[in-house]
Amino acid sequence: MKRAIFPGSFDPLTLGHYDIIKRGVTLFDEIIVAIGVNADKKYMFSLEERQQFIEDAFADEPKIKVVTYEGLTVDFCNKIGVEFILRGLRNPADFEFEKAIAHTNRDLAPIETVFLLTSAKTSYIASSIVRDVIRNHGDYTKLVPKSVRT
Ligand code: ADP
Repeated sequence: MKRAIFPGSFDPLTLGHYDIIKRGVTLFDEIIVAIGVNADKKYMFSLEERQQFIEDAFADEPKIKVVTYEGLTVDFCNKIGVEFILRGLRNPADFEFEKAIAHTNRDLAPIETVFLLTSAKTSYIASSIVRDVIRNHGDYTKLVPKSVRT
C-alpha cells in the first residue's frame, strides 16, 4: 500500500492545501495529513481547530487521515511506516525552500518527497495571507474550504 504524509501547519487549511490533498489521493492509497506541532510557533488557530477543519473538509474521503506530530517529519514517517512525503509547489521560492528540506530529509532517511505543482487557480493562496484577511475582517471564504470558519 502506497501511503504519503502531507505535513504542514495548516493555520488554517486553504483551498491550495485542499487541491494538493485531493490530487494526492489519485496517486496514493492513503494520504495522512500531518499537522506539525512546534511549541515555539504562535498559531492563529488551536491544534484542535486546525485538525477539525481538515477532518470536516474530508469527512467523505476514507483515504484521507488527519494526525498531529512533534519532531522531525522523517522520524514520524519511520514511526508510522510511511515512505513518501507529499508537498505542494507554488513558485520558485517554494522550490528553493522545499529542495533544501527534501535533500536534508533524504540524507536522514530513505524517504522520497513527491511534489505536486499547484493548480493555477489556487497558486496565490497562502495560510499567512488568509490569516491577514481574517485579522482585518475581510472576506476569507473564497480562499478556504467551507469547513474553515472563524
Ligand atoms: P508549512 O508551515 O510547512 O509551510 P503550510 O501549512 O503552509 O506548512 O503548507 C503545507 C504544504 O502545503 C507545503 O508543501 C506548501 O508548499 C503547500 N501549500 C501551501 N499553500 C499552497 C497552495 N496555495 N497551493 C499548493 N500548495 C500549497
